[in-house]
Amino acid sequence: MIIVMKRYATQDDIQNVIDKIREMGYDYQISYGGENTLIFVIGSEKELGKEKFIFLKNVDNVIQVAKPYKLASREFKSDNTIIDVNGIKIGGEEVLIIAGPCSIESEEQLMLSAEIVKNSGIKFLRGGAFKPRTSPYSFQGLGESGLRLLAKAREKTGLNIVTEVMDTSEVNLVAEYADILQVGARNMQNTKLLQMLGKINKPVLLKRSFSATLNEFLLSAEYILSSGNENVILCERGIRTFVEYTRNTLDLNIVPAIKQISHLPIIVDPSHGTGKSDYVIPMSRAAIAAGADGLLVEIHPNPANASSDGEQSLTPESLIRLMSEVKGIASSVGRKIL
Ligand code: PEP
Ligand code: MN
Repeated sequence: MIIVMKRYATQDDIQNVIDKIREMGYDYQISYGGENTLIFVIGSEKELGKEKFIFLKNVDNVIQVAKPYKLASREFKSDNTIIDVNGIKIGGEEVLIIAGPCSIESEEQLMLSAEIVKNSGIKFLRGGAFKPRTSPYSFQGLGESGLRLLAKAREKTGLNIVTEVMDTSEVNLVAEYADILQVGARNMQNTKLLQMLGKINKPVLLKRSFSATLNEFLLSAEYILSSGNENVILCERGIRTFVEYTRNTLDLNIVPAIKQISHLPIIVDPSHGTGKSDYVIPMSRAAIAAGADGLLVEIHPNPANASSDGEQSLTPESLIRLMSEVKGIASSVGRKIL
């Protein structure tokens, strides 16, 4: 912790801070070099507490140096976390592709989507049964009957299932059907939901909220990790900026940033990140090139008729093109497509 004194702080003010540090049993170092005197306190920031110093006379600022998350950090675990889903390894050399419709609309639409996904060589099918829609008047999903359709699709194709859980009351139900449970952007800080997902033995795909900083994103992951579930996959899905020509701004900077400071896998959702199907393939290439561990993409047998997110959904043909283009990028960065 660094205590920054105001420029006009007197020797008595500085001594007052030092006395407080000593009284608490900590050591310190002092720098009179620049315009402001800096006092470096050596000890656990959690125990020291910023508020114990910020109110002392002529203290300008108290800077906490330690990261607020622990279990999610590389200091805690230096090796990458590799998550095993039915024998498939996520977060290692291979790049995970998850594809499927935004919402499950009908048996026919889901089975067709599952065939398209499987025929493209993909092993994970996504599809929302519980849909977190911005408007209460938009299609809210088929609920439990949508989950049953996912089970049917798995039975027919052998695909692994990724689907969203929105509420604590639905965690156990969704966990019965899903191989990976998705937490949507709107629920990234639903701490009760995160804690409950920490108690199940299935991996969680945690999407970044529109407005979350990197620290907030990792602290949400920390809720799941600290509740007992080590299998968290992060997902960048675009953030809200002043940019209006795309639905969101896909923050690919966060991929190398997360890789540096966390051991958790991170995948990218270029569908919600751009909101436009034409931009999905270029941004998928960019995501893999930036070091992402996978992609989450929306597809639809007939995007023009989709109940949600048709504008950003790939057609069956464009999914095949995406796969062939990202294969080349993956091999150029020493990875393979799962
Ligand atoms: C989704 O994946 O369909 C979805 C609702 O995404 P997000 O939570 O990122 O908006
Ligand atoms: Mn969607």
